[in-house]
Amino acid sequence: MKSLIFRKSDESKLEISSHALLRMLAFVQDDRHKPEAGGILIGRYIRNSQDIVIDEITVPMAGDRWQRFYFWRSRQSHQQILDQSWLESGGTSTYVGEWHTHPENIPIPSDTDIKNWQARLKKDIFSGDTLFFIIIGIKFLRVWEGNKKTFIFELLNESTSNDSS
Ligand SMILES: [Zn+2]
Repeated sequence: MKSLIFRKSDESKLEISSHALLRMLAFVQDDRHKPEAGGILIGRYIRNSQDIVIDEITVPMAGDRWQRFYFWRSRQSHQQILDQSWLESGGTSTYVGEWHTHPENIPIPSDTDIKNWQARLKKDIFSGDTLFFIIIGIKFLRVWEGNKKTFIFELLNESTSNDSS
């Protein structure tokens, strides 16, 4: 599977590695018994650019609570993985957002999602002004970029070209 590339609001690129993609897609709610799932996005800024690559994600783990329309993430266990990646990468891999699944073809954030995303922008520590929020629907994966100054969530378009500009 190829990585996916989205165009950020500042025109630079957000790449989701095939590894991260495959791990998230394993939780697609394509069966009515599968619960919502989610985790955090671990990425790094590409040197001399605003481009970001999401290399790794966390998946549901002990302490999380899963239901078909609800996912609650225990902060501690996901934070441990984040801390470990940060150390192993020499301080380049960092928290860049969150992902979760929805049992609908084309995912649309719920009011709870928006509130939660706003809380992440307010409370979480991260570099830059934005965090990324991925929702994995049954047929489509969508990415929103949230800005901590404006609290606007912009739906990002997939970049079809592979140019480096
Ligand atoms: Zn949701």
